Amino acid sequence: MVSLSLEDVRLMTSVRDKAEAIRQAGQLLVASGHIHPSYIDSMIARETQANTFLGNGIAIPHGLPEDRELILKTGISVTQIPHGVVWNPGEIVHLVVGIAAKSDEHLQILANLTQVLADPVAVSQLVQTDNPQEIVDRLTRGVSATPSDSVVSDLGQAVDLVITNAHGLHARPAAVFVDRAKSFQAEIRVRRGDQSANGKSLMALLQLGVKQNDTIHVSARGGDAGEALAVLQAEVADGLAEAAADPITSVSQSILTLASEAIAGVPASPGIALAPLYHYQRKRLVFSDTATDIQAEAEKLTRAIATAQGDLNQLYQTVSVRAGRSKAAIFQAHREFLDDPDLRSAVIDHLKPNRSAAWAWQQVIESRASALAAMADPILSGRAVDVRDVGQRVLMQLADRVESTAALPDYPVILIADDLTPSDTAGFTPDQIRGFCTVKGGATSHTAIIARSLNIPAVVGAGVALQQLTQGQTAVLDGDRGCLYPTPTEADLAATRQAIGERQALQDVEQRDRFQPAITRDGHRIEVVANIGSTAEAAQAIAAGGEGVGLLRTEFLFLQRTTPPTEAEQFAALQEMVRALDGLPLIVRTLDIGGDKDVPYLHLLPEANPFLGVRGVRLCLQRPDLFEPHLRAILRAAQQGYLRVMFPMIATLDDIRGAKAALESVRISLDVPPIEIGMMVEVPSAVLMAEAFAPEVDFFSVGTNDLTQYLLAMDRGHPTLAKQADGLHPVVLRAIAQTVQAAKTADKWVGVCGGIAADPLGAILLAGLGVNELSVSLPRIPTVKAQLRRQTFKQMQRLAQKALQCHTAEEVRRL
Ligand code: PEP
Ligand code: MG
Repeated sequence: MVSLSLEDVRLMTSVRDKAEAIRQAGQLLVASGHIHPSYIDSMIARETQANTFLGNGIAIPHGLPEDRELILKTGISVTQIPHGVVWNPGEIVHLVVGIAAKSDEHLQILANLTQVLADPVAVSQLVQTDNPQEIVDRLTRGVSATPSDSVVSDLGQAVDLVITNAHGLHARPAAVFVDRAKSFQAEIRVRRGDQSANGKSLMALLQLGVKQNDTIHVSARGGDAGEALAVLQAEVADGLAEAAADPITSVSQSILTLASEAIAGVPASPGIALAPLYHYQRKRLVFSDTATDIQAEAEKLTRAIATAQGDLNQLYQTVSVRAGRSKAAIFQAHREFLDDPDLRSAVIDHLKPNRSAAWAWQQVIESRASALAAMADPILSGRAVDVRDVGQRVLMQLADRVESTAALPDYPVILIADDLTPSDTAGFTPDQIRGFCTVKGGATSHTAIIARSLNIPAVVGAGVALQQLTQGQTAVLDGDRGCLYPTPTEADLAATRQAIGERQALQDVEQRDRFQPAITRDGHRIEVVANIGSTAEAAQAIAAGGEGVGLLRTEFLFLQRTTPPTEAEQFAALQEMVRALDGLPLIVRTLDIGGDKDVPYLHLLPEANPFLGVRGVRLCLQRPDLFEPHLRAILRAAQQGYLRVMFPMIATLDDIRGAKAALESVRISLDVPPIEIGMMVEVPSAVLMAEAFAPEVDFFSVGTNDLTQYLLAMDRGHPTLAKQADGLHPVVLRAIAQTVQAAKTADKWVGVCGGIAADPLGAILLAGLGVNELSVSLPRIPTVKAQLRRQTFKQMQRLAQKALQCHTAEEVRRL
């Protein structure tokens, strides 16, 4: 039960108005560490939505449900205002009971309050008393064993109902119960244990102090008793009209709200870290600028490049195992950069007349990196860091000696650095590097991508203020919000430890239950499958709890090579995946090259707007030399297990009909049975004409990454616009709702394989919109399943409907 101490009570207060009264009540809660100061504004805002006047001179102001994260711990405060304050016209308040309720521990006090409320003598004593102890005693003692309305036997018909509301039967759900009860003639009683209350009296109901998971015995007598009980049963099962808010509470992990000063940057990898700060310094390489034997220097260069390439191969293998092939690909790119014959000859040219290989190498690398850094395209200019990274790797081999500054300490740290290269990051482990924060950098850098896949919280672009921080100072890094707290208070440290502990405990449970299906509390099932982009990930998807693969990005078969893969190569990879899935479905998306994915050996023509150009199925329809072997491999692999195919970038009926015709002609030539065919819905025209597309296919898979960029006309990779291109924008949700509707009419199913399916709120909204399958990245599978299991389908539907009415992505996220 929540305690009320003397410090939480303020006597003899006089205030000008209601807002000041609420502020006073809030200040007491701030002073006692129950709330963040900004919760006071929320308490004031709440008054515009609901009347917190309880009756008989008492009010119970509290904040908006969505601001619950600003509550640090559950508690109440009492402000005595002997002269009273006008709460609403005709309502004068003398006792303001400010409530900060994180959970339901305050219900006992509310129950006591309602007893006081019913007793005008008790109220006037509390309003006049000059002894705060009297108020504390009256509000914290147990509920009287014989409340005025108790000891009444049950009525004729009855049901037992479990209250599942997170905060029990507090004022709002109790009011809904009473409201529904009052609409019937029948007499209705509610009993909890040996106390009972009139089911049509709010005050009596609150007095019962019903908590989450308590069972109440509801009995009724009268002509419509049966109907009343049925309706009340349904209302209780439905969460008494407040359930829609529940998913928000349960999906948001313990959000960190710290009082100390923060340095803000860009969130690059989620999670919270608490550890001493450590300034990372790269090694300094010492070498002579000149040399006498040019031939010897050229040979030294060849050996240094070969050694670096060997290291990069090794690094590629290590990171592939730890984080997947797609994340490791950057090291393959580094290796290819070293293969460039022009690079080597440029360095050799610089050796003349008497320069050292190290000096010549550094000159060439620096000029290439600077040229890149000067480019207007921020993505290209961001690649300068990769060139310098690979350059440094070779220079290490060429240097006369390495003046190593302090190595990483042997205790866990939060690393502070000017910038980090992918090579730096790949060497980190979460045990050693709890998190990192850089002066420079952006969220789309490879460094950030690798940090995410290694589960290391990271903040980038936090500015030069980082350089002044004291080494060894214990700090808190919040990768979710992109903040570093360099001087946390004791209270901040305690809150951080608690948040880390809670997250870990939650993750452990989610991991343990990852093979459980995602069935909501009211029995609705959503399939949770994996997005994969390599052969090995098929088996990993199953190990992560995936119920199959919802999106295989086949581009990996075509990237990082110099010639197209043969049909045999494609078949071998697909066959391995189908077999690894052992009867679970594998959805193979046909080649989606173009847009931001280029394949040099295909010699695609340069385009002014590649995202609006020959991309995805458009390219395949123009290039039967690529498409036919691809489809043959897919259809042959389908004979080895459960494989479905889907086509990307379908914009017109001609696209889907053309793709199907190509598949059908290959199928006939192979003489194999048909397979299920789907299409990606990722272009606005596919949404607007979904009812015309639905009869053409067996399923839709909504690609929200592209759909968002095409609906909002914002390039998904754009360094400044990409932030605004939020897949939870109502326009995207409305498009999905329309797609689901069209699919339902044609009796087809809908999946979503874009990024929002893995977003905690996104998964719930999509399920609420009627999406049947969510396809997410491997590490997100256990969490998404757990989140869905915690909800009821009804709650999600209600929340989704609310989201559809919103006007901005922020409104949706605030729901
Ligand atoms: C999408 O567009 O949402 C999608 C899943 O495909 P990709 O990200 O590969 O374009
Ligand atoms: Mg796409």
